[in-house]
Amino acid sequence: MKDIIEGFLRFQREAFPKRAQLFKELATQQAPRALFISCSDSRLVPELITQREPGDLFVIRNAGNIVPSYGPEPGGVSASVEYAVAALRVSDIVICGHSDCGAMSAIANCACLGHMPAVGNWLRYADSARVVNEARHHKSPIERVQAMIRENVIAQLANIKTHPSVRLALEEGRLTLHGWVYDIETGDIDALDGATHAFVSLAQYPHTRATPPSLATAA
Ligand SMILES: [Zn+2]
Repeated sequence: MKDIIEGFLRFQREAFPKRAQLFKELATQQAPRALFISCSDSRLVPELITQREPGDLFVIRNAGNIVPSYGPEPGGVSASVEYAVAALRVSDIVICGHSDCGAMSAIANCACLGHMPAVGNWLRYADSARVVNEARHHKSPIERVQAMIRENVIAQLANIKTHPSVRLALEEGRLTLHGWVYDIETGDIDALDGATHAFVSLAQYPHTRATPPSLATAA
């Protein structure tokens, strides 16, 4: 903990003064343009991999970058999604999985989570991805986990579309969804192409989207 407190003291001494004007502007308002949903994993830092500053990203993090589908008893993730979309009116939502994800490995390898009942319960929100992934043939255990990570991003994109605020924003053509998978070792991001349902290199195809905004306005 000592290094964390020393880090804060360094922030106050060095990093804060450089952004004093920014923090003054942010003191009473925020207008982030994107909601970024990622795993809690320590190795994936949304602001670092997108080179964003304070005020730029509204972030939700949890085990497995999961978004429970909307229901009669919405929880914290649902409330945060609703606030980002309905109140802050973000124009983009990124759901970002990552390589070597412990949560997805546990699902893909059917690991016993009896000693972690809350985790086991939480990961049920990835059931549709699990069932699809189990029905497929994989060449190796590693490939099975990698496929699970991607299927989970697809499943969570489907889940978030059940949220009323998201449905409305898509309907009004003011929201675009993105499904990403970040590779910890290489720093690469693969993005889901909503038109082909394939993951492609975001560096090669920077305009890749899970849902094109024009789709919603067509009606
Ligand atoms: Zn993870």
